[in-house]
Amino acid sequence: MFGGGFGGFHAGGRSAVGAAGRGGGGGNGLPFAGIPADLAAGVAKLEASEPDHGDPDVHYDPLQDRGGKIALGRLLLGHPAYLITSGIAVLVETTLLQAGPALVQIGIDHGIARHNMTVLVWATAIFVAAVVATGFATATRMRQTARLAASATRDLRIRIFAHLQRLSLDFYTEEKAGVILTRMTSDVESLQNLLQDGFAQFGIQALTMVVVTAVLIHYDPMLALITLALVVPPLTIMSLWFRRAADRGYNRQRDAIAFMLGNLAESLNGIRVVIAHNRGERNIVDHREVVGDYTDTNNYTGRINAIYGPGTSVVGLIAMAIMLLIGGRMVLRHELTIGELTAFVLYINSFFQPVQQLVQLYTQYQQARAAVGKIRGLLTTRPSVRQSPSATALPPVRGEIVFEDVSFGYLPASPVLRNVSIRIAPGETVACVGPTGAGKSTMAKLVTRFYDPTAGRILIDGHDLRDVTLSSLRSQIGVVPQEPFLFVGSLRENIAFARPSATDEEVWAAVDQVGLRDLVERSPDGLDTQLHERGQSVSSGERQLLALARAFLAEPRVVVLDEATSNLDLHSELRVEAALDALLQGRTAILVAHRLSTAMRADRIIVVDDHGIVESGSHDELVSAGGRYAAMFETWAAHA
Ligand code: ADP
Repeated sequence: MFGGGFGGFHAGGRSAVGAAGRGGGGGNGLPFAGIPADLAAGVAKLEASEPDHGDPDVHYDPLQDRGGKIALGRLLLGHPAYLITSGIAVLVETTLLQAGPALVQIGIDHGIARHNMTVLVWATAIFVAAVVATGFATATRMRQTARLAASATRDLRIRIFAHLQRLSLDFYTEEKAGVILTRMTSDVESLQNLLQDGFAQFGIQALTMVVVTAVLIHYDPMLALITLALVVPPLTIMSLWFRRAADRGYNRQRDAIAFMLGNLAESLNGIRVVIAHNRGERNIVDHREVVGDYTDTNNYTGRINAIYGPGTSVVGLIAMAIMLLIGGRMVLRHELTIGELTAFVLYINSFFQPVQQLVQLYTQYQQARAAVGKIRGLLTTRPSVRQSPSATALPPVRGEIVFEDVSFGYLPASPVLRNVSIRIAPGETVACVGPTGAGKSTMAKLVTRFYDPTAGRILIDGHDLRDVTLSSLRSQIGVVPQEPFLFVGSLRENIAFARPSATDEEVWAAVDQVGLRDLVERSPDGLDTQLHERGQSVSSGERQLLALARAFLAEPRVVVLDEATSNLDLHSELRVEAALDALLQGRTAILVAHRLSTAMRADRIIVVDDHGIVESGSHDELVSAGGRYAAMFETWAAHA
């Protein structure tokens, strides 16, 4: 957290400020050993103005499963101080607000009618004081509920994000990124709206109805009954209709938003392909359709609101008019004072407004409840690859990998691997070759435990992968994916991705190992040069080299590498090959080889096909055996 002092400002701790933090900020006079006295006051002021985001409830534990249980009540109760102060503010606000008509009644009956100026002045003064106090109460309530909503949704957002970090790859294969984004944006926001405004409004309106009814009965039970009979039945009918219509409308709206975001996210992710294939126009048409659906649902909810809002107002106003007649007649018969009649008419206004508001709040509540349901669904999704509660940390390994009768399929109905057994010795490099879709990458994913085998075991130095903690396993396995992913950030951050604490020397060593020194030195800010999203500002060869440097720095015992299929020019290819040789030196390696030139340099080649390993041996052995590999090699040699 930023509030934690200067040490936290700079991960690298290279700046003078960072050094001061580590040095305790004390030692006056020493260069860089402390904050100069003349700056200290300014720095302290700056530090005090840093927003304190507190320590949110963050748990990153691959084991923990407390995820699912979110409930509206729990979210509210998580911040009792805000809840209590806003509750008190609501009480004060509502009661004071209803003092108005009663004061008018006193002013008319006891002041005007009896020519008593003192009463009139007092009534007015109290009225003004009540209005001012209401203003303060409202301001307090709004501030507190905003804080309540902000804190509760912050906790929730962090919990969802933490959970997303925990979920396994299959979840991300199945779930669209856009839908996940909707959970984080629109769903959390509708919950935030309810927490911020909805609950308080609900309290205010419900309380207002109770107070107004009590006051009306106190004035004249008969007239109160007539009023309720005039207002309640038509309002109930209209409200029931509105509720049903709104349920339908807002459900459709929710789906439409998810579709729209899904469509948007997909076309953004694929924008390169879209441009290359001239799909721009077609995509606009597609997007216009999803936006069109969304517009339709908005029009629909707009329409029902346009009927309900003015409709209920008309009912209320008619009731008021009828009141004038009935109440006026009672005044003529001296059954009611003029002040009481005025108060009545004013109170009717405060009576039908809450009903109207409550129904609209109901839709807000429905929306938030739907959102909570969806978020709960996300939070209760359990990672398919789970760490066992009895898992122990994997001690530093030599790097022996054994597949024991391993079977696996992404879908139970279609197995990809069947009864695969192989032993890879520590330090050995094994290249997997075979037709596309045979299961080479799948074997690699099983070693990193992205998925668990459906049968059989995979052992590393004799430890079943399922018996060791995920972090201790993955810290010893370096993965170089087919499409190296570079993040927005500096070259340094990207290279030191697996070990952010690495020193500059270590980062430079990794850079040298893959021969990227010239690139770094050419870049405007050296290691601090910022990369663009997905590393679009470097060439594809350089991206591969950066991915190798990243693997170097992590110093894994085992390297799992899915060779990039993108074609490099000869020079880049030689550089990548040299870097690869350096990386694999002395490490156990599983290469998914797409080029036979890569495969040939491995200690052993396995040919994967027909759900298993069909051939295994060195390049020379396999060529002289005259099998599948020999045929592949012949074809390749003929082309080359
Ligand atoms: P290779 O690396 O040999 O080209 P893969 O190991 O990637 O092949 O894939 C093996 C088979 O599994 C293919 O038929 C592929 O379509 C299927 N497959 C790969 N990933 C998934 C996935 N996430 N869900 C379902 N099927 C998959």
